[in-house]
Amino acid sequence: MTNKQEIALVTGASRGIGAATAKLLAEQGYTVCVNYQSHADAADEVVKEIEENGGSAFAVKADISTEEGVAILFAAIDTKVLPLTRLVNNAGILFTQIKLVDLTAERINKVLMANVIGSFLCAREAVKRMSTERGGKGGAIVNVSSGASRSGSPGEYVDYAASKGAVDTLTIGLAKEVAAEGIRVNGIRPGFIHTDIHADGGEPDRVARLSPRIPMQRGGEPEEVARAICFLLSEDASYTTGSILDATGGVV
Ligand code: NAP
Repeated sequence: MTNKQEIALVTGASRGIGAATAKLLAEQGYTVCVNYQSHADAADEVVKEIEENGGSAFAVKADISTEEGVAILFAAIDTKVLPLTRLVNNAGILFTQIKLVDLTAERINKVLMANVIGSFLCAREAVKRMSTERGGKGGAIVNVSSGASRSGSPGEYVDYAASKGAVDTLTIGLAKEVAAEGIRVNGIRPGFIHTDIHADGGEPDRVARLSPRIPMQRGGEPEEVARAICFLLSEDASYTTGSILDATGGVV
């Protein structure tokens, strides 16, 4: 492992896709900021595993859906001497599967605050620190969207799907806005991945139920998404910006 002397921030890195991404970035030599909201034990476990494997990481509890939380998160990063050069806007939520006729403004707002506002605010703070126009050394951002942005998730969570549509648009616009400032911005649309998020939707076994409809006939593992995210963050993707990569086992 080559120590890159740079920080990679992964929001929502205590569990699922974020945890897998944090571990892989640490293997690649980044000092990883493991952000989480409430599961401190899980975040500490990710940091412990990274350190046991010779990597470097630190956990920061911060709710990225608020200005306050994002300020706490980036203040913690700023106490480190190393520059921030990678951001994975991964933290995301959904609620119980219901039809649109039963949605409330309160629920829709919660989803938008976490999935959309959180991604915007973290991108804003990352750009301030990465932009070559502001004295930064450039960097790369990956926004974690979802195949739901295209399917619309009818009968399950159209609110969540719409939030991911907004994340896709963030990727397209921000990529062009900061391309000349040394920052690449790309997105990824995972499909049906084995994580805890499906239990939040009220159906822990959702991936198994839907597997026969996936061309590859199986759900994905968090590590498979993490590898695609790390490709987009890496120099192997040096001429790629504004792209959104599907990691869906063939679902379009
Ligand atoms: P997960 O297993 O439920 O993990 C969610 C992570 O986000 C946890 O680390 C959680 O922290 C964190 N988090 C949630 N709200 C937060 C907030 N306000 N501030 C800070 N951290 C917060 O989810 P996942 O399945 O890995 O999903 C990761 C991303 O992939 C999400 O954006 C999701 O929409 C997207 N995605 C997932 C799938 C899938 O099939 N799994 C498919 C498409 C897209 P705590 O542990 O502290 O609660």
